[in-house]
Amino acid sequence: MNVPATFAYLVASVFFILGLKFLGSPRTARRGNLFGAIGMLLAIIVTLTDQKIIDTTYIIVGLVIGSAAGIIIARTVQMTAMPQMVALLNGLGGGASTLVAYAEYIRMPESPIDVLISIVLSVLIGAVTFTGSLIAWAKLQGVMRGAPILYPYQKQLNGLAVGVMLLLGILFALDPGQWYLLLLVLLLALALGVMTVIPIGGADMPVVISLLNSYSGLAGATTGFVLSNNVLIISGALVGASGLILTSIMCKAMNRSLANVLFAGVGSEIGPANAETVQRTVIRYTPEDAATMLESAQSVIIIPGYGLAVAQAQHVLHELANFLIQRGTQVRYAIHPVAGRMPGHMNVLLAEANVPYDLLLEMDQINDDFQNTDVALVIGANDVVNPAARSKKDSPLYGMPILNVDQARSAIVLKRSLNPGFAGEDNELFYEKKTMMVFGDAKATLTNLVQLVKQ
Ligand code: NDP
Repeated sequence: MNVPATFAYLVASVFFILGLKFLGSPRTARRGNLFGAIGMLLAIIVTLTDQKIIDTTYIIVGLVIGSAAGIIIARTVQMTAMPQMVALLNGLGGGASTLVAYAEYIRMPESPIDVLISIVLSVLIGAVTFTGSLIAWAKLQGVMRGAPILYPYQKQLNGLAVGVMLLLGILFALDPGQWYLLLLVLLLALALGVMTVIPIGGADMPVVISLLNSYSGLAGATTGFVLSNNVLIISGALVGASGLILTSIMCKAMNRSLANVLFAGVGSEIGPANAETVQRTVIRYTPEDAATMLESAQSVIIIPGYGLAVAQAQHVLHELANFLIQRGTQVRYAIHPVAGRMPGHMNVLLAEANVPYDLLLEMDQINDDFQNTDVALVIGANDVVNPAARSKKDSPLYGMPILNVDQARSAIVLKRSLNPGFAGEDNELFYEKKTMMVFGDAKATLTNLVQLVKQ
């Protein structure tokens, strides 16, 4: 590779690293995205020109079709369906790495042994990522059962599949003429992706998706070794490492070890299908009651959850918070790490409504303050404030740290019904004396509250 191209790859890599750095805070995340995109554009242009690809017809056709599909999907996808989309994108990344590595073998069957090993690893990791991500997508989309699918000797069979693939891979690297060995690795890896994700319950899917994201990066990096392409190695390694860090953060937020997520076969059916139907009653309060409570409060902590995203009530929530702040109330937002349906979901949602970043506090920063707070205003959140996570050992939520809403002097909960959240677990908070349940769509109730507080 010539010097200008190497230098351009280095610059692209610096853009990737800075992009990741900026993505570390909601304040700079947009800049981070832009830096990542610039780095990628540079890497693509350099690769196309440096590799002396004279006839770019196919590349341009692919670029146009891919970009059009990307723009349409990104513009139309609901914020709430983001995890599924991320799962699909991870899967496509893994699939692309597999295809490129396989094509390189077809192009140069007599490659040196280090390249052959990279080809095997790229095919293996990429194919596991591809089918594993498709299963994660199907579980989240409700196309297949969200609950764990278990069968006898599952872990042993998965372990055996890994062992057989490694053995086949070694034999292939030693004698690349035996093309069917690589094909067998590919088929086994495709099966392994399915087998490793079906035992994982819907509630653990966020962790799995970030792990698959890491795998897609590793597949990219190994493909970089196949092609001797430095920028692919660097960007793949960055995705692999950051995906692993995110996986570890998510595990910590849910108080689960990675081994427990991958092998325990726990987690519930997605949505209310698994919910206990407990016949208990709560007092139904009106928005007027809630407005009176808010007006007399000196401190309010807002807890946004998935329902806020469904209702698209972030703008009107910001308006309400502003009115309260103008009246002299201390208003802050408590962000649970797994609130919503993707990491950072609430940050993105509130950033869209221009909520100042310094009002957003992470769970660890604010959890001790609930006991000195007049009103905890819960908007479309459920699992992240469910005390069953502390006390109910058989609950899928058990062990997950929650926001201490039950310790506030009073709580106002805005949701449409007594339906449970993602984990399908009834919520004791709703039945407590200090809790005011205000039923209805969050946007409609908040709009009502704004009018009442304004008067
Ligand atoms: P939950 O899913 O637990 O609860 C959301 C609540 O919002 C529901 O109980 C629902 O009640 C209510 N709701 C829905 N629509 C509306 C509406 N239009 N207006 C008002 N309320 C509404 O959300 P949380 O954010 O508390 O918890 C997130 C859950 O998702 C956790 O279990 C987490 O593990 C899981 N998860 C998280 C991911 C992540 O990366 N953040 C990814 C995938 C899953 P009702 O129907 O009665 O209105």
